[in-house]
Amino acid sequence: MNLNKEFRSEIPSTKVDHPALNDAGVTLFINRLDLTHPFLSGNKYYKLKYNLSEAEKQGHDSLLTFGGAYSNHIYATAAAGKIFNFKTIGVIRGEEHKPLNPTLSFANKCGMKFYYLNRKTYRSKTNPIVIELLEDKFGKFYLIPEGGSNALAVKGCTEIVNSIEVNFDHVCCAVGTGGTLAGLAAGLAGNKKALGFSILRGASFLNENVSSLLQSYSKKEITNWQINFDYHFGGYAKFNIELINFIEEFERQSKIPIEPIYTGKMLYGIFDLVKKGSFTSGETIIAIHTGGLQGLAGLRDNISQLKNEI
Ligand SMILES: *Cc1c(COP(=O)(O)O)cnc(C)c1O
Repeated sequence: MNLNKEFRSEIPSTKVDHPALNDAGVTLFINRLDLTHPFLSGNKYYKLKYNLSEAEKQGHDSLLTFGGAYSNHIYATAAAGKIFNFKTIGVIRGEEHKPLNPTLSFANKCGMKFYYLNRKTYRSKTNPIVIELLEDKFGKFYLIPEGGSNALAVKGCTEIVNSIEVNFDHVCCAVGTGGTLAGLAAGLAGNKKALGFSILRGASFLNENVSSLLQSYSKKEITNWQINFDYHFGGYAKFNIELINFIEEFERQSKIPIEPIYTGKMLYGIFDLVKKGSFTSGETIIAIHTGGLQGLAGLRDNISQLKNEI
């Protein structure tokens, strides 16, 4: 299996110019992982790549995974199936809604089959009884956890660090399940640090997730990482007009498109910490643009509603 086919291996890092950065003497680069591939972009490619080769090695022709109806991971898994010739099954939280939203419509076009679980059953999706039910229905499959985080995802995400061509002190990413942050931390050398921004509310369990992902990946103790919990904006997929205004200003200044679920929250957090003096003058930050722009199609109505309310 050629895991690198069609994928851009040189990822540009763009310097951001902003008065707040100048005032603090801090340099910020955006690593454009969102440009790796038109459909399988951002961190999701890195999280999936070694899972795909493992699935092939184990002789599977089907991938099964879990996610919400707007999930970037569902979108990416469907695209990966299409590109690398796997059948894909998406177990979706909640009820079916027709017409399909843009995320599921794309996944459907890639050949993904859907299976909807009500929210209660969805919560027990890792229970062997649920897995057995899915095997009865779909036959044997290679199981990728919700959000795609496992030891092989961590291995893939260590490669994000290798693709960074500028010198830096801190590498930042948005944190949903923690696989990407774990991979960044494991890939770092010397005294560089990885800083994650939780996009979930009340998610201190993410510290344990990242620790245990790192343990499953490496016997070495890896401690050069930290999660900030202050910029979740109310929780997963929640945002407010302040965040939307920040994103629009950032896009105007930098010409880099971002979205409010992941990268918008991370960048808001970085700028706020810069203003508060949390970084030392002379330091360089690299923020990973983990992609997720596909989700904007499903958010347009929410965003314009928010703007009309003020
Ligand atoms: C999935 C996703 C993340 C979160 O990655 P984890 O490894 O689950 O923490 C961050 N940003 C974007 C755009 C994503 O789609």
